[in-house]
Amino acid sequence: MSSAMRIVRVTRPKGPFDLVEQRVPEPGPGMVRIKVEACGICHSDSMTKEGIWPGIQYPRAPGHEVAGVIDDIGAGVAGWKAGQRVGLGWHGGHCGYCDSCRRGDFVTCQVAVQVPGISYDGGYADYVIAPAGTLAAIPDALSAVEAAPLMCAGVTTFNPLRHSGARPGDLVAVLGIGGLGHLGLQFASKMGYRTVAIARGQDKIPLMRQLGAQHYIDSDASDPAAELVKLGGARVILATATSAKAMSAVLGGLGVGGKLIVVGLPNEPLEVPVVSLIMPRRSIVGWPSGSSIDSQDTLAFAAQAGVRPMTEVVPLERAAEGYERMMSGKARFRVVLTTG
Ligand SMILES: [Zn+2]
Ligand SMILES: [Zn+2]
Repeated sequence: MSSAMRIVRVTRPKGPFDLVEQRVPEPGPGMVRIKVEACGICHSDSMTKEGIWPGIQYPRAPGHEVAGVIDDIGAGVAGWKAGQRVGLGWHGGHCGYCDSCRRGDFVTCQVAVQVPGISYDGGYADYVIAPAGTLAAIPDALSAVEAAPLMCAGVTTFNPLRHSGARPGDLVAVLGIGGLGHLGLQFASKMGYRTVAIARGQDKIPLMRQLGAQHYIDSDASDPAAELVKLGGARVILATATSAKAMSAVLGGLGVGGKLIVVGLPNEPLEVPVVSLIMPRRSIVGWPSGSSIDSQDTLAFAAQAGVRPMTEVVPLERAAEGYERMMSGKARFRVVLTTG
């Protein structure tokens, strides 16, 4: 192994990406070194690029959709060995002693929640160092490029759906069919829900069918809430869109006891007519991806059920271009960096 590696760092908040060489770091106690094969570009990488997340120390390499191979392990690491294929996602570390951690709910750690690419250098690099407890095993059926987006976009849609209380045959809608939604749609369909895609435009129908939607609602051409009511009312709407207005507009499409699960992050507040919650006993909840075992479950389910991200592959050295492609909203549907 050569002792130098490439890493793409953001130099300062709103600063440019900078491709530099540095020494390959050694994994400390409890840590592993992953040789990165692929790293998805997530909209949340803008937290690092634009300096939105408080307290980031720059320069910082983004990237929390990592897929690669364990290259070296530090002292005291049990359960993992060099050569194993692993993913590293949004959940990149936790304190281990707060109330959440002691309940095993690591992703809501209140003391020292860590995110690769924010708390420490992430996957825009040839190697990344991460706590061993944050790894997910990648099944043979998934390539690194397929596994990477599942480590954030995948678990962020799979995990809330499987905990939603919806049962096979229930009407489940996915609002917004982009990086998150195109995976949410596939998961919902493969979980056995009567699946509805809600997006804008008529040209999307063939793709929506291919992704598993039984019904498609064009929110430009019709009132999505009224259309959902016609279908019987949704048990769950998974809101992956980044428009609070679009979320408000579907609320009336929930059935009795229906739940709007919010995973997309709009810039503006969500306005809700409270009466529409009370009488039909509807609820609105958020969901923060999941811990490493949730990611591993996501990968295993995707491998078994045939759920795959649609990706555009860009080499690591063109990370800036890949990031712009993702931010433009034109990518179909996830941009993934590869180290080659
Ligand atoms: Zn993400
Ligand atoms: Zn904690």
